[in-house]
Amino acid sequence: MKLVLDHIGIAVEDIEKALAFYRDSLGLDVEAPEEVPTERVRARLIDVGGPALELLEATASDSAIATYIAKRGPGIHHITLRVPDLHVALFELRQRGVRLVNSEPRPGAGGSLVAFIHPSATHGVLVELKQCPEDLTLDVKTLPFGNLQLTVLYDGPFRLDGGAMFGVVPRQMWEKLAPPDERNRIQLAMRPLLVDAAWGRMIIDCGAGDKMSEKQVDIYALDRRRALNRALTIAGVSEASIDFALATHLHFDHFGGATIRDNDVLRPRFSRARYLIREAEWEDATHPHERNRASYLQEDFVPLKDAGVVDFFADDGVIKPGVRVERTGGHTGQHQIVYLESGGRTAVFVADLIPTTAHLQDPWIMGYDLFPMDTLAFKKRFIREAIEREYLIFFEHDPKVAAGYIREKNGKRFVEQVL
Ligand SMILES: [Zn+2]
Repeated sequence: MKLVLDHIGIAVEDIEKALAFYRDSLGLDVEAPEEVPTERVRARLIDVGGPALELLEATASDSAIATYIAKRGPGIHHITLRVPDLHVALFELRQRGVRLVNSEPRPGAGGSLVAFIHPSATHGVLVELKQCPEDLTLDVKTLPFGNLQLTVLYDGPFRLDGGAMFGVVPRQMWEKLAPPDERNRIQLAMRPLLVDAAWGRMIIDCGAGDKMSEKQVDIYALDRRRALNRALTIAGVSEASIDFALATHLHFDHFGGATIRDNDVLRPRFSRARYLIREAEWEDATHPHERNRASYLQEDFVPLKDAGVVDFFADDGVIKPGVRVERTGGHTGQHQIVYLESGGRTAVFVADLIPTTAHLQDPWIMGYDLFPMDTLAFKKRFIREAIEREYLIFFEHDPKVAAGYIREKNGKRFVEQVL
């Protein structure tokens, strides 16, 4: 477990009065105020070079800060250690028998996740563990959905050119939603979805996998420390327990993880699985042209057919009870989305039809799409339907939002985040 001191929390009775000392007398820089309604506190972070100081004032009499001050007076309240993955950290601490105040992460300031370790375990210091928002994509979460159980997996972050991700939309407009790095790339995630049902276990897409060259790892900013095997471990799922792997399309960031290189031999990754692939997508992928060659890497899928584990299908329809595919075209000629239907509810794994929550507006379509007008037509119809019928949408590439409901208010679309 790698821990870094993030900040020291100081409980004060009145933030403004405390600032008269920290800001005015000491001359320190103070960040904008922030309220954390769940904790019923108001906070101001003070920059002291390394880890920050955090002034905390209660906003309600039942706030932990109010209780602390009533009991012990103002002063140092907690220290906060940053962890790369709070779920993993809490899992490990539970296993080591450490007493926790919060056994599950809870929302903290600035979009972070936090949890407290009990002072009885830390020799008298209240220790807060914190995972920063940029690391939140690490979450592996399970959601019961009628007769199905849906688990959002994670095959790590990657980056793609921001311009290519938004097509004709000017950078001025998209950079607010998706800030580019110095190489003009925006942060994305790869999130396959696991479906558990009476008929077995299915993974929908499986990330980029681990066959990429050093150069590709650099171009796409892949971070393979946080890859699918780790997510499956967190989910308690073995690779051998997967019965079906369904492809939305065969681009490397969706189905690269279907094969692995094992002592220079390429083989299917999930030893027991049947691989479910749309036949016409297979034809396109195995006959690439100049425009899509960089996305269709033959080693990702040809070894599957060689091993005799592919089940091809030709048309839209129900693949397994509760799992239905529909061709959208657009992104690739045969790109398809997956409907998960159970208990009168519908969830949709939309793959590259709506890659992130920044792509909710109809014309915000990727420059990568081979047939953008097909994307537009399908997307217009689909988003309307998704809003009206309250589909739970799984966003495969969004760096922060794994799933949510698309809403519309005064003509503006937004996502109500669920996972
Ligand atoms: Zn993609």
